[in-house]
Amino acid sequence: MGLGRTRAVGLAGVDGFLVEVEADVSPGLPSFAVSGRADAACAQSPDRVKAAAANSGHPIPSRRVTVNLSPASVPKVGSGFDLAIVVAALAAVGEVPARVVERVVHVGELGLDGSVRGVRGVLPLVTAAARAGVRHVVVPLANAREARLVTGVQVHPVDRLEELVARYRLLGAGHPVDPVPEPTDSPAAAVVAADLADVVGQAEARLALEIAAAGAHHLYLVGPPGAGKSMLAERLPGLLPDLADEEAVAVTAIASIAGTLGPVEGLLRRPPFVAPHHGASMPAMIGGGSGFLSPGAITRAHHGVLFLDEAPEFRPEVMQALRQPIEAGNVVVARAAGTVRFPSEFQLVLAANPCPCGMGSGRGAACTCSALQIRRYGSRLSGPILDRVDIQVHVPAPSRAALVGRPGESTATVAARVLAARAAQAARWRGRPYAVNARVPGPQLRSRPFRLPGSHTADLDAAVDRGLLSLRGYDRCLRLAWTVADLAGRGSPGRDDVGMALMLRHRRAVAA
Ligand SMILES: [Zn+2]
Repeated sequence: MGLGRTRAVGLAGVDGFLVEVEADVSPGLPSFAVSGRADAACAQSPDRVKAAAANSGHPIPSRRVTVNLSPASVPKVGSGFDLAIVVAALAAVGEVPARVVERVVHVGELGLDGSVRGVRGVLPLVTAAARAGVRHVVVPLANAREARLVTGVQVHPVDRLEELVARYRLLGAGHPVDPVPEPTDSPAAAVVAADLADVVGQAEARLALEIAAAGAHHLYLVGPPGAGKSMLAERLPGLLPDLADEEAVAVTAIASIAGTLGPVEGLLRRPPFVAPHHGASMPAMIGGGSGFLSPGAITRAHHGVLFLDEAPEFRPEVMQALRQPIEAGNVVVARAAGTVRFPSEFQLVLAANPCPCGMGSGRGAACTCSALQIRRYGSRLSGPILDRVDIQVHVPAPSRAALVGRPGESTATVAARVLAARAAQAARWRGRPYAVNARVPGPQLRSRPFRLPGSHTADLDAAVDRGLLSLRGYDRCLRLAWTVADLAGRGSPGRDDVGMALMLRHRRAVAA
């Protein structure tokens, strides 16, 4: 009887932290308790650990077993501590060599039969272990590929507890150990990305989409059902550049925690596209829920696109909750055990019908809505959200002429222009905390050396003078004008670029 020690990793938001796991086995009435702010799933670990150990041929004696997880101040959530707890307990009773397991990190849930089951969030967990200087990590075989995405740490996959015990005993006796065979899961089915060439007509909306992609501007599409608003939104990620290394790590880690990461071939390199239903609850949108704290839609859309179709139908409190993340690029989720911060830097695409019946504007004869109904519908999208949307564009039902016309440009063609425009922005804003026009503070664009000559901003100035444009709106138009110029390869916006920006900004198709 004695003391066994090993390590695990816990998760707070999207960041992992190292956990020391101690097991003390002493004479006394048989009991098995876990202390150190374990949640319900973690506190049930003893049941799984006892059964798994017994069914693996290494039963934990009926003594007084006390497991402590430290630091005690941080909540331990989920069943991923099982493997570390059983290893610490087996080390305490001398079933595995205590010295060998002491500095190894163990991640995994136990089945009652002794199988080691995959857990969510392995990528951020192993990343945290590597950052803490850990050299060896034992993970479930099901998570091996994901764990191997992390460099600087040796990953040891394990499928069953008795295998792990056998390997530790060989190591303890100084024998070499054969590597565990890798899982041979079939490669992910190739995802056929939707191409912009599929969108017929819609010249203005396509242009708006391209400008939105180039400058990372939030976008609002208004048009009748069937006009192709969803088609357009789904094609936005295809126009965006590949994720940079750090972004790819963050996006892959979030997918791992959310449980949406498929068979792993490498880090996710493309911006995500997340389209929650308009009935989405607060936890579904911003994160939270009981038990395992899951990231919400806005975090799964981090470094990608959040598409809210039928935006006026979303619950007002859910829309309100978007305000802070849009401003801050992250969201703080409060729960009983404390608060957790999730990243949420997304590009927002809103879509709405012109009126509740959907038939308003365009071929408006069929619309049966009253003026009041239309006004109410429009006002359901709050000003503070719309205030942050740079581009508002009308998407009419496609005309017959457009349907038989030539196909539009492909995603590849437009994405190349977007990439060049992004490069121009990155060069211009080098050394500043932003790299895209949509994030540039207004005062920056109104002062030297970026202030435009009065002759170029004459239309904007006139709109402000006539009370048609607020100062916020003015700044938004300046940002858009820079993006229009970047797409055209001009060093700075001319009067036509400003005029285009004013048009994209000012087309309020929904009465608000
Ligand atoms: Zn209507």
